[in-house]
Amino acid sequence: MGGKPGLMAVETALVELLDSAGAPPDAETVPLSTARGRVLAEQVCSGVDVPPADNSAVDGYCLDHRYFQPGQRLPVSQRIPAGLAPTNLAPHTVGRIFTGAEVPAGADAVVMQEDSEATDDGVLLQQAPRAGQNIRPRGQDIRKGQTVLAQGTRLRAQELGLLASVGVDKVRVYRPLRVAILATGDELVEPGDSLGPGQIYNSNRYTLIGLLQGLGLDILDLGVVPDELEATEAALIKAAAEADVVLSSGGVSVGEEDHVRVLLERMGELRFWRLAIKPGKPFTCGQILGTPFAGLPGNPAAVFVTFLVLCRPWLLKMQGASAQRPDLLRVVAGFSLDRAGVRQQYLRARLVATDSGPVAEIYPNQSSGILYSASWGNGMVVIPPGVTVSEGDTVDFLLYEQMLY
Ligand code: AMP
Ligand code: MG
Repeated sequence: MGGKPGLMAVETALVELLDSAGAPPDAETVPLSTARGRVLAEQVCSGVDVPPADNSAVDGYCLDHRYFQPGQRLPVSQRIPAGLAPTNLAPHTVGRIFTGAEVPAGADAVVMQEDSEATDDGVLLQQAPRAGQNIRPRGQDIRKGQTVLAQGTRLRAQELGLLASVGVDKVRVYRPLRVAILATGDELVEPGDSLGPGQIYNSNRYTLIGLLQGLGLDILDLGVVPDELEATEAALIKAAAEADVVLSSGGVSVGEEDHVRVLLERMGELRFWRLAIKPGKPFTCGQILGTPFAGLPGNPAAVFVTFLVLCRPWLLKMQGASAQRPDLLRVVAGFSLDRAGVRQQYLRARLVATDSGPVAEIYPNQSSGILYSASWGNGMVVIPPGVTVSEGDTVDFLLYEQMLY
């Protein structure tokens, strides 16, 4: 798939990263109300049928459909609101029943109140009922013993509700990974402070904090490390000792101020550090003193892209999640790209709804230093090496929404 010799394909790097992920962290039991975003450490089976009994889907009258006769009124023998256990329905009668109430033995249909006429003499049904009509059968949603969620599922709001619906109040989930982050660069100043000559604000720290928070991980924020070998070494040792994973930004290029890569070779293992990805070519990974490590580039847009493309799936795998990669959407290009690249490009883009369907537009400046490009849109167009694009072509698209949680 194209790619210049010496540059590793994104797919190869991703497979290597995922293969390198070790066992997930220990499990802990947490209340369901605090489990959003966590990864299930066990399979959950239902101990109950949902719904637990046949119940009415409407407000109306329940009966045995065989007792219906056109024009004949049937007396009301009981009133069944939701939450009350009914008694067996007497033959040749109807029960007044409400939505969600249990259908009594002896009834097999519910007629909507709008399709009936009630007087003191009984209820007149306008049409012959069918067996089963307006009844939600026991176990229709979930059957007792059924697997509700598999181990490795990340819990979203709907999974929390689903677990509650089968009566589960606590879940076994993996402890969140502790991720150390550090930013390298003598030029970095914290937002809130004033900029001196040659300085810029440290944005990568906040991009990484936001991305890691989105994944529900624990952050060990080690701040800024100056471009000095000893300081970088000390920071990396501390990070490796105290965290499950270490992420850094900057200092992985080939300049003599770039110490991270050198230290990785010396203190741990350097797995790859020139990728066929744009932006993000200097992305580096390996381990430091046995702790998994990823060295993200310094350029802010490259940090955002390489985190989403490489770190996110890797962290999710390490966290024990069974699904790690977002699905690529196929969308129409609203732009053209005349020159093919040797690297796989992740163009910051936005998917716009049009009358003929979603169309992807790209931000005009795709330089790796332009962080506005990431905020401008809602996703990325993925262009493989060697590929050009004409407006109207179908291209791959990754929505940030698929990845920022
Ligand atoms: P480096 O890989 O360290 O040479 O950094 C590449 C570019 O990214 C340089 O222009 C840096 O000033 C910039 N950069 C590095 N770290 C940060 C950061 N934390 N926030 C904003 N820009 C950064
Ligand atoms: Mg630097």
